[in-house]
Amino acid sequence: RLGHNRGEVVGPRSRDEFQRSLKITPGGSMRAAPFFAPHPPYAVSGAGCWITDADGSKVFDCENNFFSLVHGHAFPPVIEALHNVLDDGTAFGLPTTSETRLAEAITTRSPKLEQVRFTSSGTEAVMFAVKAARAIRGRPMIAKFEGAYHGAYDYVEVSLDSAPNNWGDSSPNSVLYASGTPPSTAADVLVLPYNEPKSCRELIRKHHERLAAILLDPVASRVGMVPIEADLREVIQDCCNRYGTLLVIDEVVSYRVGFHGAHATFGFEPDLVALGKIIGGGLPVGAVAGPASHMAIFDHTKGKPAVSHGGTFSANPLSMTAGLAALQAYTKDAVARLNQMGDTLRSEAIEQLRRRELPAQVTGMSSLFRLHLKAEVVRNYRTSFPSALQKAALAKVHRAMLERGFLMTPNCSGALSTPMSETDIQDLAAALVDAVQEVW
Ligand code: PLP
Repeated sequence: RLGHNRGEVVGPRSRDEFQRSLKITPGGSMRAAPFFAPHPPYAVSGAGCWITDADGSKVFDCENNFFSLVHGHAFPPVIEALHNVLDDGTAFGLPTTSETRLAEAITTRSPKLEQVRFTSSGTEAVMFAVKAARAIRGRPMIAKFEGAYHGAYDYVEVSLDSAPNNWGDSSPNSVLYASGTPPSTAADVLVLPYNEPKSCRELIRKHHERLAAILLDPVASRVGMVPIEADLREVIQDCCNRYGTLLVIDEVVSYRVGFHGAHATFGFEPDLVALGKIIGGGLPVGAVAGPASHMAIFDHTKGKPAVSHGGTFSANPLSMTAGLAALQAYTKDAVARLNQMGDTLRSEAIEQLRRRELPAQVTGMSSLFRLHLKAEVVRNYRTSFPSALQKAALAKVHRAMLERGFLMTPNCSGALSTPMSETDIQDLAAALVDAVQEVW
């Protein structure tokens, strides 16, 4: 494994591609998230856990297109299913049975999700869930947890830039993220501190009359990738029941944590759920799902629906077909095995870090993990917030991992995939600890 990368994380072909790309797109790559200095390698192909780049180097992929490929690359059942439908056309201004089949697969494995609407991304799924919640409750405000990422939508971006120099800004007038966001946005977003149940209860109580929904990712990566604690879980569910506030769970990433989805794993009664990533089998996708009574807000058969939902490529047959093949293969056994490997990775890495007395920790749940270069226990966004020194060191760990042939996200988080073996997990844990030791 270690020989594949020949010690250079970015070869000349990737460098040339990047130079060429700089002329036609700001920043040289079409997405901000995969960028890291000086620039990332260009992917040419993927198979299972491996990506081959433009220079022929191979990396073991622990990023899996930002946690969306639960079976790794070019998963044979997905590729075969796509081949079977490809000759029939790719998009229609009519429904197809592929959308019904994927929706049935989701509602069967997650019985609390009685109905589904597909979108083309997780961002759109969250956006429609938020709109629907406001329309159902007739209230303008949503609550979200500080720092949590829910896609590129003005309201849910509030507080993404929360930092020690603006932590004093009081919710709901918390920091806007993008300079193009109208300042009025913040007035309708209540920012809650994660895993601080008392403050959450107080803030929700204070604003409940205007509060339509609480948006929650129970293992949010940017909040530290720590599972929600039982006390906060109870407070959220209790406040929702007490004030009629809707509970919107963002499972765009965390649907993978349990066979029935994260809401079932944590015992939530969700009013709406946003899905994405793994339910598309590697193709663009998102979905809003929930009890039929709430989903009726999208019903267009009786005139103008309260929330009109469309999307040129929503429910396109390729995403639906790939998603169905991926979900069918993500069986109870596959979920259990992947979760077990995640537990092994975290416990192995934590134990080795402890033995070498390195001030670092690995958080996460199920097949999701994130490295923090600090000894202080990470419980939420503020405790996970890296100092400038830690941030620079994380970038070095990311690079040191690439030199060892492992790809993680630039902030040193990752997601496992089903083609991985127990040996791979041991190698990954050992490489991660070695990389931390080299840098930190
Ligand atoms: N919600 C969460 C928790 C996410 O992590 C993401 C993307 O990373 C989104 C929503 C947005 O999904 P997409 O990138 O498909 O728009």
